[in-house]
Amino acid sequence: MSENDGQQAGSSGCGAAHLRIGHGYDLHRLDVLAPEGEGRPFVLGGVRIEHFRGPVGHSDADVLMHAVTDALLGAIGGPDIGQLFKDTDPAHEGQDSAVFLKEAVKRVTESGYSVVNLDATVVCELPKIRPHRDAICANIARLIGIGADRVNVKGKTHERVDAVGEGRAIESHCVVLLSR
Ligand SMILES: [Zn+2]
Repeated sequence: MSENDGQQAGSSGCGAAHLRIGHGYDLHRLDVLAPEGEGRPFVLGGVRIEHFRGPVGHSDADVLMHAVTDALLGAIGGPDIGQLFKDTDPAHEGQDSAVFLKEAVKRVTESGYSVVNLDATVVCELPKIRPHRDAICANIARLIGIGADRVNVKGKTHERVDAVGEGRAIESHCVVLLSR
């Protein structure tokens, strides 16, 4: 990229200061649903999925929403989700995690950036993510305010090893690209 191509150049002269990348990661323990266990209703990317286990957490424990939120906050060098929303705050008990994502989107917008695209992976043995993929992508895109074609979510198993592979936990990774 040359210096006179109209793109905003950073002080480093790299010419790519208009782009920011962010990464988010989250994990939640899975347990049988309350009241037998501690599991909350299984919600992923804001989409309710019927499953006999659910994530354990202070909020609604939406692992994908939390990874996406942290990726957005990370891209603008902001505080992470745990700093913004204390898991000891009674106000966040059972909280719909869309509230966290919306706050991250607000901060991204205030920083002058918009989301180019987002790619996320959810790792768990069950339930299968693929049947719910389109609904999850559409919901996250709606919350961010971008087209669903800019949001990608894929599911993977953990090959039946370790806590995730034994169905005792679920994790999510997300990368997001911003531009201004
Ligand atoms: Zn979380």
